[in-house]
Amino acid sequence: MTEKFWSPNRREFIAGAAATAALSAMPLPAFASNTVKVGDLEITTFSDGHINLPTSIRIAKPDPSKKEIYERAGQGGEVFKSPINVTLIRTPDELILVDFGSGPRFTPTTGKLEQALSDAGIDFSAISKVILTHGHPDHLWGSVNDFDELTFPEATYYIAEKEFAFWRDPEAAAKMLPEDRQAFAIGAKARFDAIEERIKFVKEGDEIVSGIGLIETNGHTQGHVSVEVNSGSDKLVVLGDALTNHVISFEYPEWHSGTDHLPDVAAATRKRLLDRLHNEKAMLIGYHLPPPAIGRVVKSGSGYAYEALT
Ligand SMILES: [Zn+2]
Repeated sequence: MTEKFWSPNRREFIAGAAATAALSAMPLPAFASNTVKVGDLEITTFSDGHINLPTSIRIAKPDPSKKEIYERAGQGGEVFKSPINVTLIRTPDELILVDFGSGPRFTPTTGKLEQALSDAGIDFSAISKVILTHGHPDHLWGSVNDFDELTFPEATYYIAEKEFAFWRDPEAAAKMLPEDRQAFAIGAKARFDAIEERIKFVKEGDEIVSGIGLIETNGHTQGHVSVEVNSGSDKLVVLGDALTNHVISFEYPEWHSGTDHLPDVAAATRKRLLDRLHNEKAMLIGYHLPPPAIGRVVKSGSGYAYEALT
């Protein structure tokens, strides 16, 4: 039997956006700062907007006894709002971005990164490296702008070879749900075609620059990676989509999510990561956590919980 993977469907997202016009008008939570220091590195998150997702994508069969948890997780209704936070690492010599954002062609509520970076006075050609956690549209499609030009034209793009191979496999589309395969596979192919010459393959243990390395965090996708930043005695991990929800991913890591390509592997990765982040007292940034998405893992009962830092 061919294994099936979830992949989003543009039509579904746009329907979600219409259904939640009122919800979308709600202000995002206020926060003190979107920047933290890790040794001599300055790490900032920028909003790329948010995605409106049908809750059924995440929770296929809701359990009425878990209503309180769903509500705390922002998943108590038919549609939930998943914020997008892109990380920029400023080293003494370089600007390094983690993920490209969604770009102009994903959904009406996404693709805000270019404006956010411009507002902060960031020169796009000064970004020297982009590390891609995985090939989903909200992470990859921003590699190309409105004019089909490279958004960050001077950068080298780092991606796990396993992830690249998954999206490059002509069979990749056939392994996804039928109604989604076109948009997803074609979208990834177009972006990878555009950026291929600037791609450098990396794997766990490789150092991108001194103090910035990769951890394999497969499960959400086949070759998903997270970015580990060490400077002095400080540590921070940019998680990508290894932990996607501030309640469920941290408190119930064993629950399967329909957005993970390999749900069992993703659950095992979450448990391993939570132990590691807690034991190493690392800060973390999650792509879909509430803005500014910077926090820590804290003990809660017999498990863990998310604590926002700023
Ligand atoms: Zn994502």
